[in-house]
Amino acid sequence: MSAYVNENNSQARPDGIYANVIREIAKEGVCPFCTDHLQKFHKKPLAERAYWWVTDNMYPYKPSKHHRLLIHKTHISHMNELSPEAWTELLEIFKEETTGRNITGGTFIMRFGDTKFTGASVSHLHAHIVQSDPEDAAYDKVKGLTMRIG
Ligand SMILES: [Zn+2]
Repeated sequence: MSAYVNENNSQARPDGIYANVIREIAKEGVCPFCTDHLQKFHKKPLAERAYWWVTDNMYPYKPSKHHRLLIHKTHISHMNELSPEAWTELLEIFKEETTGRNITGGTFIMRFGDTKFTGASVSHLHAHIVQSDPEDAAYDKVKGLTMRIG
């Protein structure tokens, strides 16, 4: 059992690709979102801010038009550990992302703390900005785009 990733929470994608990635990271025993390892595991362009990395999710929820990740730059796992400055910057980034990408509706979610209770596969604190794609043929008209929160 890794302190950084939770293999039990990586099964949501039916193709199994993400579960394999998380299994490999667990074997290495490192945090995939810590700056020293982020670029090994994350191949999307990164925008660096004072407190956050801003990037596309490598494994976006489907079907989505946008799935952005805001990854806290230092290793914390609970929102209680966020500084007021990091909260302020998070809001600034949220506004820039939703305005700049014309995200007129979407979901902002940040799981925190013990991954046993959150459904998160990576314990390092990060937030998601997700806009679903109701026009995609794979969009479920009843369930919509679903994501695990517990
Ligand atoms: Zn970390």
